[in-house]
Amino acid sequence: MTAQTTLANLDLSKAELTGGTLKVTSPIDGSVLAEVHQTPEAEMEAVFARSKAAFKAWRTVPAPRRGELIRLLGEELRAAKDDLGALVSWEAGKITSEGLGEVQEMIDICDFAVGLSRQLYGLTIASERPGHRMMETWHPAGPVGVISAFNFPVAVWSWNAAIALVCGDTVIWKPSEKTPLTAMACQKIFERALARFGDAPDHLLQTVIGGAALGEALVASEDVPVLSATGSTRMGRAVAPVVAQRFGKCILELGGNNAMIVGPSADLEMAVRAIVFSAVGTAGQRCTSLRRLIVHNAIREELLSRLKKAYAGLPIGNPLDQGTLVGPLVDEAAGEAMTESLKAAAAEGGQVFGGNRVTKGVPDGVYMEPAIVEMPNQTSVVKTETFAPILYVMGYDDFDYAIEMQNDVPQGLSSCVFTLNMREAEQFLTAAGSDCGIANVNIGPSGAEIGGAFGGEKETGGGRESGSDAWKAYMRRQTNTVNYSAELPLAQGVKFDI
Ligand code: NAD
Repeated sequence: MTAQTTLANLDLSKAELTGGTLKVTSPIDGSVLAEVHQTPEAEMEAVFARSKAAFKAWRTVPAPRRGELIRLLGEELRAAKDDLGALVSWEAGKITSEGLGEVQEMIDICDFAVGLSRQLYGLTIASERPGHRMMETWHPAGPVGVISAFNFPVAVWSWNAAIALVCGDTVIWKPSEKTPLTAMACQKIFERALARFGDAPDHLLQTVIGGAALGEALVASEDVPVLSATGSTRMGRAVAPVVAQRFGKCILELGGNNAMIVGPSADLEMAVRAIVFSAVGTAGQRCTSLRRLIVHNAIREELLSRLKKAYAGLPIGNPLDQGTLVGPLVDEAAGEAMTESLKAAAAEGGQVFGGNRVTKGVPDGVYMEPAIVEMPNQTSVVKTETFAPILYVMGYDDFDYAIEMQNDVPQGLSSCVFTLNMREAEQFLTAAGSDCGIANVNIGPSGAEIGGAFGGEKETGGGRESGSDAWKAYMRRQTNTVNYSAELPLAQGVKFDI
């Protein structure tokens, strides 16, 4: 199927796809998919005003009824799965199964949010005063700003939007300027769900199309009490102080530098499969991609030789072709960044395997061989996130040292250990183990399920999204005390008789 057929199937009209100033190119072959219209910066105030008005109505709709809208969204996503998955491939360069997987993740979070709509629980609390009841109530927060990155162009929106909407918030979405088409398609899918839902206020979801300036307007607006921003640490550093200055709440999902420790007892067959998927899947362009392998010296050579064999046979090419496992990088700049990092790694003592640009048998995009780089130790380039398929390999003898090395980077998103030694596995998960938001045993760092809270520490930003109690970040907490007695006792026994 062509990109144009896919766009038409998703109800994107010629008028929306032509004549605009934002050129959208496909990483697959560099072809121009569309020229879309950008939201003028001057319109952002009106966007905020519409979102505030919609919020006033939506916040009083019972939460289970709000859940019904997300149930319908899940149904519409199921119906659109093949087309939306294909558009993710066209626009972000993902292989077919990963494009479809991303849409499946959206469906899964909708299911989760529907259940959640009946479980926005507060606590009841024992009061120290007779005839008094204390409780905690969760109320909708207001318009939620969502800024998203190119590499999960639709799933990240749905993690935020499905939860925010059942929580009673409205949503303003600023997708990556590299992937506006998938966002426009999601807005249409959402509108189909809205039409079936019936009586929702207008402008529950508004998608604004354009670059960082629109994001900056969202970040600065006092009308946006919650700002969820996914992208580079550089972006997070710009966003966080501005939101803090106005006492807004930030959910930051920033860069990762994820590691796997492989112990001497590890099932190497399983480890190799996990390493290859995590390091080269999505061409190394996942925030949770495996970037550092910390392997026990006793098995280092054996593991490296198995990995190099697997890497040498990787099918690299058009992500829409069946059998392809490694698609293109998003653009030329990403290819250059990979080459520069490999040069830096070599200068810091690394031995590079792979990493060349592939030009034969692939379309006209940026196709790179995934690289394995054996490093003498964890040098400066290893501590930096390069958004490309580079796997740095370091050896260790002592497990405590391996954990120290795993933690000795500025980022703190995902981590894992491969071991059959129960002591190592448990130690990795303790307070003295991994310092990341995600820590796994005998599973790679990438490909999280939506049931758990997703996010990381340190330069990854500290935000949590998706499952568990991540919903609390989209609501405001209120503590209530009710006095049903005829007395007015003060807390802490204070006397104040008048
Ligand atoms: P990016 O930081 O270049 O852009 C992300 C988004 O931020 C875009 O929508 C962009 O327009 C916007 N933006 C940029 N500067 C801004 C500013 N000053 N104010 C407001 N908005 C601004 O990131 P990218 O290249 O699209 O994505 C790759 C990065 O995202 C990687 O670092 C990756 O690790 C990270 N990422 C993290 C997660 C996570 O959950 N932790 C998920 C996906 C991607």
